[in-house]
Amino acid sequence: MGRAGHYNRPLARPEEVHIAIRVMKFGGSSVADAEKIRNVARRIAGAREQGDDVVAVLSAMGKTTDGLVALADEISSTPAPREMDMLLSTGERVSCALMAMALHDLGHDAASFTGSQAGIVTDTAHTKAKIIEINPERLLSELGSGHIVLVAGFQGMSTDRNVTTLGRGGSDTTAVALAAALDAQVCEIYTDVTGVFTADPRIEPGARKLPLVSHEEMLEMAASGSKVLALRSVEVARLHDVPLHVRSTFAPDEGTWITKETPMMERAFVSGIAHKSDEAKISLLGVEDQPGVAATVFTALADSLINVDTIIQNVGVDGRADLSFTVPLPDLRKALDVIEGMGDRLPHRETISDDQIGKVSLVGEGMRSNPGIAATMFRVLASEGINIQMIDTSTIRITVVIARDEVERAVRALHEAFDLASEAERRGV
Ligand code: ASP
Ligand code: MG
Repeated sequence: MGRAGHYNRPLARPEEVHIAIRVMKFGGSSVADAEKIRNVARRIAGAREQGDDVVAVLSAMGKTTDGLVALADEISSTPAPREMDMLLSTGERVSCALMAMALHDLGHDAASFTGSQAGIVTDTAHTKAKIIEINPERLLSELGSGHIVLVAGFQGMSTDRNVTTLGRGGSDTTAVALAAALDAQVCEIYTDVTGVFTADPRIEPGARKLPLVSHEEMLEMAASGSKVLALRSVEVARLHDVPLHVRSTFAPDEGTWITKETPMMERAFVSGIAHKSDEAKISLLGVEDQPGVAATVFTALADSLINVDTIIQNVGVDGRADLSFTVPLPDLRKALDVIEGMGDRLPHRETISDDQIGKVSLVGEGMRSNPGIAATMFRVLASEGINIQMIDTSTIRITVVIARDEVERAVRALHEAFDLASEAERRGV
């Protein structure tokens, strides 16, 4: 009979046997061709054979999603978002069906499910939907029958019963949200890198894999340009306290654990350096210094779905102030159009923009209790002759806006100055 558990799992297992649920997410490069799919199938089978209940979330094969987007572009310059979602959601379904077949050949019971079948309910914002709730009964009953469950990532069904997708990179979010809903022991993110690094190893060859970072550090890193995990997935992990393990698909080694803050982290001042190279800056000069101006500008930009980042406004002089902020480079044109469209509603002297900027961010729990880090960072940049255009901080992050062609040099100099290579080693790599 069913175990009287949290989710009423219909398990024909003794009460005392604790079966762990393991969510394993594989990215597009991990399932890029038939051979890779068979390789991942062996990995999933191995987890099942260890006795865990396995839910695998898959991305679309290789660059499938890019290919589908390009195909839509060939057909129409204004594809309906609803139809984009019907189109894009197919990629991950292909991966899941093929993976089920590969697992069958290995002698396992496996079944694939769309996001909708998996009980993932989203809002109605096509191509960038948010998960509202997950009804895990169907998956739990499949697990209860001993099946390996394969879920198509990056998709769900909206409250008005249309297929939706969660935005690029959304399979990470599917995996973490399912792990939360299923009360899984861990959400493993299998990818083509071996973990989260102290900096991008393509820029800093001395970058080291971090054994452990906190949810909050990862959140700051993802927001500051680290591409290992989709930002939303880290938000969900932090909110529901889901332990993440980012690791390689192609090697057995431990990767990076992402969990709640641990005491060990207090020893390191800086955990990692993140950077962004595709940013632009807009400055509104001589803006009338009166209540409501910032509200008007940023409401208009938000209404156009432009993600404004670092914002600074200087002290007003003679009733006028300068207001600068950054936007993602691809949104620069749109942002300038929005500002121009505001006309008299935004009384200011001049708008200028710079499409040649980048950002470098230091992230670390250790910053909470070590006030000198910003000063050291600025000194290092000064000694490199790098000019800081804007500064933005949180309790565990310092970000500088600098010229794009100085970003890589800044990353290397800071990695060296904060001794991140040996710092990571000391922390147990
Ligand atoms: N296939 C989707 C993308 O390429 C979702 C994902 O892989 O996470 O963005
Ligand atoms: Mg990804």
